[in-house]
Amino acid sequence: MQADHFASIITSPLWRTDLYVGGAWVALERRFPVDNPATGTVIAQVASGGTAEAQAAIAAAQAALPAWAARPAKERAAILRRWHDMVVANADELALILTLEQGKPLAEAKGEILYGAAFFDWFADEARRIYGDVIPTYAADRRLIALRQPIGVCAAITPWNFPMAMIPRKAAPALAAGCTMVLKPASATPLSALALAALAEQAGVPAGVFNVVPGSAREVGDVLATDPRVKKLTFTGSTEVGRALMARASGTIKKLSLELGGNAPVLVFDDADLDAAVAGTIATKFRNMGQTCVCANRIYVEDGIHDRFVAALGVAVAAMKQGDGQEPGVVQGPLIDMAAVAKCEAHIADALAGGARVVTGGGRHALGGRFFQPTVLADCTQEMAIAREETFGPVAPIFRFKGEADAIRLANDTEYGLAAYLFTTDHARIWRVGEALEFGIVGVNTGATSYEGAPFGGWKESGVGREGGRDGITEFLETKYMCIAGISPLGS
Ligand code: NAP
Repeated sequence: MQADHFASIITSPLWRTDLYVGGAWVALERRFPVDNPATGTVIAQVASGGTAEAQAAIAAAQAALPAWAARPAKERAAILRRWHDMVVANADELALILTLEQGKPLAEAKGEILYGAAFFDWFADEARRIYGDVIPTYAADRRLIALRQPIGVCAAITPWNFPMAMIPRKAAPALAAGCTMVLKPASATPLSALALAALAEQAGVPAGVFNVVPGSAREVGDVLATDPRVKKLTFTGSTEVGRALMARASGTIKKLSLELGGNAPVLVFDDADLDAAVAGTIATKFRNMGQTCVCANRIYVEDGIHDRFVAALGVAVAAMKQGDGQEPGVVQGPLIDMAAVAKCEAHIADALAGGARVVTGGGRHALGGRFFQPTVLADCTQEMAIAREETFGPVAPIFRFKGEADAIRLANDTEYGLAAYLFTTDHARIWRVGEALEFGIVGVNTGATSYEGAPFGGWKESGVGREGGRDGITEFLETKYMCIAGISPLGS
């Protein structure tokens, strides 16, 4: 059945392996392999762009900019809406492409496709609500206004963990604002990005407005971060690469949006609803096999509920079905590569050496390859690597705490500040703890918060700027203050 899926998808018009630049598909001799993490089989050889291709894509985006920026917002909105409709109409094929290159279960992949599509819908509406200001004047002969205008050519660099959804989160507001874009997708997962470009073409996105250049991170990334024609760089990925890009982009004072790593705490208080806390922890910890930036990385459980929570989480996690994401009922697929497997192993070994114990899982799965058992560890402490670093895998470390002050101190004890979660039935505590947490996103009695209409982004070293919601489009706009003098008074 899976071989049939593959045979049918590679004949689909959405299965693209060349660059998309200036509205044309560009084949290159230099190519790189993309494999299926579930099997290790190479599924495509994708054109590998470098310096010249990145520069050509920027030139195409620059050429397309004036006409796109001048289009009435209503027309840009209509094109984005068509793009949205085409993504939704092709959601099953897009989900299969995503599962083949990334590994997540098909149902989760389809969820990602629809979540991503929702950004086209949301920002199609926002395109028509880019208002300026009329400012009360300071002189009788002057009128003061603030315009909001597109920032210009934008560059986007996206990660492999959400190969599709991270793209509309950037491209939809950029295009809605009147900007054009060059995208470099992650090398592990370029096929979803290219499929999205095929749908952009069909939806009538004009040539050069949206360009996709997979290839060398160093070469393409360097051009996107340093070329003076690029006015804005929007990046989602690791804090390490984000920091390096920030330094390189400083040469041309580019505007930046950075969505970086996380080290999300979950706080489970004694008064929590146990079932909700377990279900919410699973939702945040094990989605995408623990490979999300908002994944729970540290689970702090109050003394009184601790033992019941550990037992219930262990039972629920042990029951998860693991396998190829294409198989029905599978909720845990493979990890992206063997380095991810090695990182889980290293974090578990370090935790066990420091006194932690395995509740369930604990190592590689019998399926072999990149499959890793969903794992729960108890008796973890703040000194362990698992508390300090993002594991980015299906390992749930549990720590014990006593009281609100202790919980807040432990949760904030990190240089990251993306997402945090708390489970409690005390409404006063929701406010006290919610306000004290130094994080950009706080989920209360839920492990799933993402919504295209809400601001997504991190505090501290988790990033700069916001994606989604009202804030998302302002990232792609410049403000221009116009002071109009010489307006003679009535009757003069
Ligand atoms: P990554 O290694 O930083 O890669 C992200 C992107 O940057 C890829 O397209 C990669 O290209 C590119 N890249 C790598 N080195 C580069 C360089 N020197 N110059 C320019 N571009 C470069 O991150 P990842 O492993 O793919 O993703 C996982 C990380 O992303 C985690 O830390 C996670 O928390 C974070 N993340 C954050 C959010 C958020 O919204 N805050 C969302 C999702 C993920 P290649 O693939 O070609 O190397």
